[in-house]
Amino acid sequence: MKITTLRLILGDQLNHKHSWFDSVDNSILYVMMEIRQETDYVTHHIQKVVGFFMAMRQFSQELHEQGHRINYIMLDDEINTQSLTNNLLWLIQELDIQLFEYQLPDEYRLDHQLQLFCQSIHIPSKAVDSEHFLSKRDDLASFFKGKKTYLMESFYRMMRKKYNILMDEGQPISGQWNYDADNRKKLPKEHQPIQPLVFERNVEHIVGLIHRFAIPTIGNIQVNHFSWPVSHTESLALLDYFIQHCLAYFGTYEDAMHPAYWSIYHSRLSFSLNLKLLHPLEVIQKSIHYWEQNQNTISIAQIEGFIRQILGWREYMRGIYWAKMPEFASMNFFGHNRKLPSWFWTGQTKMACLRHSIGQSLEYAYAHHIQRLMLTGNFMLLTGIHPNEVDTWYLGIYIDAIQWVEITNTRGMSQYADGGIVGSKPYVASANYIDKMSHYCGTCFYDKNKKTGDKACPFNSFYWHFFDRNRALLENNPRIGMAYMSLHKMSDSTKHELLKQADFYLENIETL
Ligand SMILES: Cc1cc2nc3c(=O)[nH]c(=O)nc-3n(C[C@H](O)[C@H](O)[C@H](O)COP(=O)(O)OP(=O)(O)OC[C@H]3O[C@@H](n4cnc5c(N)ncnc54)[C@H](O)[C@@H]3O)c2cc1C
Ligand code: SF4
Repeated sequence: MKITTLRLILGDQLNHKHSWFDSVDNSILYVMMEIRQETDYVTHHIQKVVGFFMAMRQFSQELHEQGHRINYIMLDDEINTQSLTNNLLWLIQELDIQLFEYQLPDEYRLDHQLQLFCQSIHIPSKAVDSEHFLSKRDDLASFFKGKKTYLMESFYRMMRKKYNILMDEGQPISGQWNYDADNRKKLPKEHQPIQPLVFERNVEHIVGLIHRFAIPTIGNIQVNHFSWPVSHTESLALLDYFIQHCLAYFGTYEDAMHPAYWSIYHSRLSFSLNLKLLHPLEVIQKSIHYWEQNQNTISIAQIEGFIRQILGWREYMRGIYWAKMPEFASMNFFGHNRKLPSWFWTGQTKMACLRHSIGQSLEYAYAHHIQRLMLTGNFMLLTGIHPNEVDTWYLGIYIDAIQWVEITNTRGMSQYADGGIVGSKPYVASANYIDKMSHYCGTCFYDKNKKTGDKACPFNSFYWHFFDRNRALLENNPRIGMAYMSLHKMSDSTKHELLKQADFYLENIETL
């Protein structure tokens, strides 16, 4: 049968439940491609490039086995122009395609590129929903229309009602929307969290390909033990493992950090979710079903804490992205302009908390939320790193980093570069918080209790430097009055010593 329709599947659109695949139609050709355009728009972690290619290849194989016509353009295929639109144009001309279709991309960059492409070709085109998210691109903008603030909690409650999740006749089950107060404990000294479920795939051939093409990457990889799931089946196995072994402790230790344990009780599902190997509703329903059967061992605080991440934060961030792009990508509320120290790419710093969290990011392409927010993000905000530098680092290093969910978390939640759209106050902390939630300080070169002088923990003086230098922008924020009251009460000499210490550390940021 002659092919008349070309359908594009992007690397993060691996949704096997998409209605496109409900039936086999031989007049449709699906196309997927490995291209330099995507491997090079930022320097990615090597595990991220491998993970995407492996998952894409697996997905294309599955479509092929189901009888769909698929053209998978490999990185080293002769016809590969390494550009998304040039490859598409070549196929359209070569096969005399009559209709071009694509799923709405989640990145502004690709959305824009495909819109321009469709305007430039002589055949009709059609964009369809990716059928993954639980809210439409502009649902959040409509929900908050006319409002000054975009409170995640209001959006989350609306979503709970809309999908009837953890609800009882219109009210939150157990009478409470939020169990944050019961959660967030430090790991007890003797407590050993369960080992994460890892896969043992050999990825030598893809790593070889990446090296042959001299694709710049960061981080490490064990070619015989690629640990991330790359199919729906493996992603389901990871979900089941999480539900059975981690969910009972998820909320309790959600914010805990430990140098010996890199994922604690976190799900590590973000890669599978972001590539659409898993559907968020599938994750939510399976988790709730398991909790319902095991309420004697899993409290409501644990399941609610987990559901809030998926149904609340994840959907909310996507809504913010589409409501605020492209302006969001250039916001810099504090006017920060410092370069990121080079040890962010090696982990070679004397600060134990950052050495461990950066080191594990290079090793596993993963750090959990509080490591991203309260260690690396906190350091970048306190020291005034330019948000572009921040974005480049986060977008590159994490296996789950795709701009819609990366930039809203960095510029928004972590760096307050949006001036308070995502968060009502900047997330900053001194050694006191880091020590309260982690086991890093005990082995550190620096002294968590010292604010100035030899071996004083840099976070302590940076913290006050941040509030002092941003007084005009933050003093009137009612949520941070305490910090300014403390600054006000501080003697001039103490304040002077603190700021002098911070300035010294900032001048020597490369050797911290
Ligand atoms: C500075 C910074 C950068 C981040 N960059 C990314 C990124 O590039 N990609 C990404 O997926 N997440 C990002 N996050 C959000 C969050 O840290 C990760 O989703 C999470 O750590 C992934 O690990 P997990 O699957 O084990 O999550 P879990 O802790 O097990 O949470 C379950 C799921 O909830 C969702 N989720 C949780 N928190 C958030 C959040 N703040 N925003 C959106 N979804 C959330 C994720 O899908 C996650 O898989 C970032 C957070 C910060 C503070
Ligand atoms: S003392 Fe300071 S730098 Fe060292 S681990 Fe603790 S918070 Fe981090």
